[in-house]
Amino acid sequence: MAKGNINVAVENIFPLIKKFLYSDHEIFLRELISNATDATLKLKHISNIGEAKVEYGNPQIEVKIDKKGKKLHFIDQGLGMTAEEIKKYINEIAFSGAEEFLDKYKDKSGKAEDTGIIGHFGLGFYSSFMVADKVEIHTKSFKDEDAAHWTCDGSPEYALVKGKRKERGTEIILHIADDSTEFLEESRIKELLQKYNKFMPIPIKFGTKEVNDPDHKPKTTKDKDGKETTEAHKQITVDNIINNPNPAWTKQPADLKDEDYKGFYRELYPMQFEEPLFNIHLNVDYPFNLTGILYFPKITNDLSIQKDRIQLYQNQVFVTDNVEGIVPEFLTMLRGVIDSPDIPLNVSRSYLQADGAVKKISSYITRKVADKLKSLFSENREDFEKKWDDIKIVIEYGMLSEEKFFEKADAFALYPTVNGKYFTYEELYNKIKANQTDKDDKLVILYASDKDAQHSYIEAAKAKGYEVLLLDSPIVSHLIQKLETSKENISFARVDGDHIDNLIKKEDTKISKLSDEEKTKLDELLKAVVPSEKFMVQLEPMDSNAAPFIITQPEFMRRMKEMQQTGGGGGMFGMGDMPEMFNLVVNTNSELVSDILNTKTRKKQERLINQSLDLARLSQGLLKGEELTNFIKRSYDMIK
Ligand code: ADP
Ligand code: MG
Repeated sequence: MAKGNINVAVENIFPLIKKFLYSDHEIFLRELISNATDATLKLKHISNIGEAKVEYGNPQIEVKIDKKGKKLHFIDQGLGMTAEEIKKYINEIAFSGAEEFLDKYKDKSGKAEDTGIIGHFGLGFYSSFMVADKVEIHTKSFKDEDAAHWTCDGSPEYALVKGKRKERGTEIILHIADDSTEFLEESRIKELLQKYNKFMPIPIKFGTKEVNDPDHKPKTTKDKDGKETTEAHKQITVDNIINNPNPAWTKQPADLKDEDYKGFYRELYPMQFEEPLFNIHLNVDYPFNLTGILYFPKITNDLSIQKDRIQLYQNQVFVTDNVEGIVPEFLTMLRGVIDSPDIPLNVSRSYLQADGAVKKISSYITRKVADKLKSLFSENREDFEKKWDDIKIVIEYGMLSEEKFFEKADAFALYPTVNGKYFTYEELYNKIKANQTDKDDKLVILYASDKDAQHSYIEAAKAKGYEVLLLDSPIVSHLIQKLETSKENISFARVDGDHIDNLIKKEDTKISKLSDEEKTKLDELLKAVVPSEKFMVQLEPMDSNAAPFIITQPEFMRRMKEMQQTGGGGGMFGMGDMPEMFNLVVNTNSELVSDILNTKTRKKQERLINQSLDLARLSQGLLKGEELTNFIKRSYDMIK
């Protein structure tokens, strides 16, 4: 019997292993199954190239719980190890790998933001000591050599003796430690297999299950009254295979139908009842290797709840569902899987973001998404328009955050109008350039954020033959800011930002019916009645049939406030505590204004002004509470 020391330098590596990856103990399971998978795939490879004269067959990996014996077994039919190979791969290489890993992350135990991803790779075989106080390896190589039996109880000493295993392959036995008995529970192991191994390439058996015997056709018999009875379906016991070794993303797009993509979505998100809107199959092998399928789900305005839905795999082994840094931020709202062996995982997130390969991956994904959106748009515009509301957040967010995407998005980003038409930027530009250019040659794009609340303003714009966009996503103020700075000589104006003739100022100035003297008188009168802390009075000679009083909110201030609420921009102007300010635009050409001026008593004038002001506030939704009650009472009194 051979005995040896693994390495005297780090005598207490096992307690360290236990301590460092505290939150991630469960990953031992993935590591051991990954090793079993590697061993099986290696055998497949060498038998394919004729280096091993073995029957490859239909190998599987088995996970078995021995609750009484407090043991967990991992059995594979892979290439196995000789005693020499154990010494080399387990005692030397794997051990120094574990040692190096610990050295690197000693100071980061527990609290480090990166342990999530670091803990996933690098420790390999020795991660089993996080949950076991003794580990055994029974293995027989595909080479014609004796079986080997390795035992290690967590001290640096190991025992290596001739083993009894007859069949090619490896069995790892974990003697589960007293503080880790949760891993002897069937439900816990099942949960972990589901989490980490759902799509691993070799079938994984975990127990058995009863199914209907496919060879049995249940007989139906009739009794003397003619009543039919069907006998029970015969049950047979079969292996319970917990994984799908050939998930959709490993297949060629040409071999998949729409149904297959939808089916895979259900496989990924069994609790999700809504179907995805469309998918993007990623498939590239140069200059890096990446496969995957991304799905566009319906995305609501609540951005916070939709992250962490993309799963990251490496060669079909689940790694994480936090793809920050790998997938551009705006696409983390999508769902699906990404599988790439080229993403370095044992590095910190900040390093990840700076890594050249990862940057290329990120921009590849961005480009593929843009290309897909473009082709969806050009292949079936009508359908794309229908989906626009559900996907616009992702696209608008992408336009804001990724310059490359912004450029590409011109081909498919849509600008819907209040009339339900959809324009691309170019179409919109051509449609309105003749009519909506102001005297300084600036193109003014009018928009509304709420069709009902801004109804009268929209109507006023329409009356002039202007197009009004309906832009209602929460980041719209950022987006239009971005468009204003990147497109030439345009500006956006919300319809309630000012009187329509001021939003798009044309050369011809309107003639005022009032004399200067009358204007001064009106101005004084208004200022005496209208509360100055809420409204700036603004006299405008407008069409005589336009509304006499209009309340507006200046574009700039409102936009800054909105941008501040949705993060970024505006903040530097220190407008956080600004009270809401509105303008009261008074149409000096309206009949009502003339009436007010011509009214004899001061009291009656004030009443007319107050009533008009309240009507204007009412139309902006600004009349509330006691003021609203008073207004209604006053109005009833008037018509009595
Ligand atoms: P890694 O998998 O990254 O190489 P591990 O610590 O997980 O590191 O494993 C160390 C080595 O031990 C493997 O590279 C492999 O040579 C060997 N090994 C581990 N498990 C098995 C197994 N089930 N069958 C055959 N060889 C194995
Ligand atoms: Mg490994």
